[in-house]
Amino acid sequence: MSGILIPCHRCGRQVDSSLVREGRCLDCRVEVALADLRAEHRRLWRKRDRYRVRGAPTEAIGRQLARLEERMAARILDLVPDREAAAQQLERTLEQVRAERYEIGRSP
Ligand SMILES: [Zn+2]
Repeated sequence: MSGILIPCHRCGRQVDSSLVREGRCLDCRVEVALADLRAEHRRLWRKRDRYRVRGAPTEAIGRQLARLEERMAARILDLVPDREAAAQQLERTLEQVRAERYEIGRSP
């Protein structure tokens, strides 16, 4: 850690300069890198909800979601070499996709 704080160009937070690459903080880099996988996660989750409502089997979608979460984890590990920090990023990402899902559920 250099101890020098600089603003992230994407979210504007003051972050340690050693964690900034191309003007972006680690959180933002993870968000950008996982945007497509997160969209796919949302799509699958909604599909599974629809299947559940109809009483259709959802095991296959559950397996697809599990594989997707493994791909998310692998992509985060590419960006975040530190295992502990990578685990925290994955947890944060999964919390975000869950929160997004509930927002969709609340809208009429
Ligand atoms: Zn940022």
